[in-house]
Amino acid sequence: MKYVDEYRDGALVRQLAAAVARRTTRPWTIMEICGGQTHAIVKFGLDELLPKAITLVHGPGCPVCVTPAEIIDDAVGLAVEQQAMVCSFGDMLRVPGTGIDLLTAKARGGDVRMVYSPLDAVTVAKENPGREVVFFAVGFETTAPANALAVQRAQREGVANFSILTSHVLVPPAMRALLGAPDNRVQGFLAAGHVCTIMGTGDYGPIAREFGVPIVVTGFEPVDILEGIFRCVRQLEEGRAEVENAYARAVRAEGNAHARRVVEAVFEVADRNWRGIGRIPRSGLEVRPEWAAFDARKRFGLVEKAARADTGCISGEIMRGVKKPPDCPAFGTTCKPEHPVGAPMVSGEGACAAYYRYRARAAAA
Ligand code: SF4
Repeated sequence: MKYVDEYRDGALVRQLAAAVARRTTRPWTIMEICGGQTHAIVKFGLDELLPKAITLVHGPGCPVCVTPAEIIDDAVGLAVEQQAMVCSFGDMLRVPGTGIDLLTAKARGGDVRMVYSPLDAVTVAKENPGREVVFFAVGFETTAPANALAVQRAQREGVANFSILTSHVLVPPAMRALLGAPDNRVQGFLAAGHVCTIMGTGDYGPIAREFGVPIVVTGFEPVDILEGIFRCVRQLEEGRAEVENAYARAVRAEGNAHARRVVEAVFEVADRNWRGIGRIPRSGLEVRPEWAAFDARKRFGLVEKAARADTGCISGEIMRGVKKPPDCPAFGTTCKPEHPVGAPMVSGEGACAAYYRYRARAAAA
C-alpha cells in the first residue's frame, strides 16, 4: 500500500535498529506518548529489535484510558437518570466508571448510541428535537477540533438540544507532571505526531530545556518509530536535550493554525483529573462560558467530583512508565479484553490491550 509499505520496510527497520545499537553505550529509558505508537511497538516487536540497554515505557496517550471514572459516571447518569441520549465513540462504551459502563447503562434502558464523529451526534440531535442529546467528548488535542466544530455547527444550525460532556486532555502538562514525579524514570520522549500536527511543536522546547530531556516528534509506522528512537538515543548519548521533528511529512512547527483557532474559540484551558494519575493543573479543555448553552455540565448542573482511585488496576503506574502491563497481577487473569478491570485493557490504544493481543495470546499458543 503506497505511503504505508515504505514505512514498514523490514530491511530499513533492521538497519535502524542496528543504528540504535551502535549509538547505545549505556541504559536509557524512553517513553512513547501515544497509544497508537505503543500498539505499533508491541505489534511489530520493535522493542525486541533494540539493544537490552534501551527500555521503552508506555505513556498516557490513550484517551479512553485517562478519562476519569467519575466523568464516565456522569455520562451514565445522563443516560439513565436524566434520560438524555448519550453519544460516544465505541471504545468508551465498555470502560467502567466507579459503577457501571455505558454499555450496561444501555442494557438497563439508557439511550446510549455509538457514533463515529461528533457531527453524527449533531445529526442525532437534529433528528430527535424533543430529546436532549449529549456527545461524550473525550480525547487529546487531536479530537478537540472536531468537537469544537460540532458545537459551532450546532449553534449555526440552531440545534438547541445538543451539548457536549468534555473530558479533553492536553499532552504537554502531562509530560511535565510525569517528569516532575519523584519516581520518574523517563529520560527521553517520542512525542505523538498527530498531536503536533494540530498543535505544532512550540510547547515542547521549554519542557526539553527545563527537564533536560530530548523530545522527538514521531510518527506511527515501524520506520517512523525506530527513526524517533534513533534520534532520541543520539541526543541522549551526546548529552543534548532538544526538540526534533522526525515526522516532517505531517508536522509543521506551527501546527494547523485553523484547527487551533477553532479549538481556542470554543474551549479554554482548565485543570483536569486523569484516570490513574490524578489531577494535573491546566491539563484539560473546558467549554468557554460563551458556549455554555452547549456545555452538558452547565445544562444538567453536573458538579465536578474528586478523582477516584481504581482498585486492583495499576494503569497509573503503567502510564507513568513505572511498570509495564505484565507487571499487573490482574493481567491476563482477572483482566482480559472480554472482562476488563481497567481502561487500558479495553481501548484499541491501551497498553494492556496491546500486550494481551500481541504477546500474551502468542505466548499461550
Ligand atoms: S491489566 Fe487490567 S487491571 Fe492491570 S493495569 Fe491493565 S487494565 Fe488495569
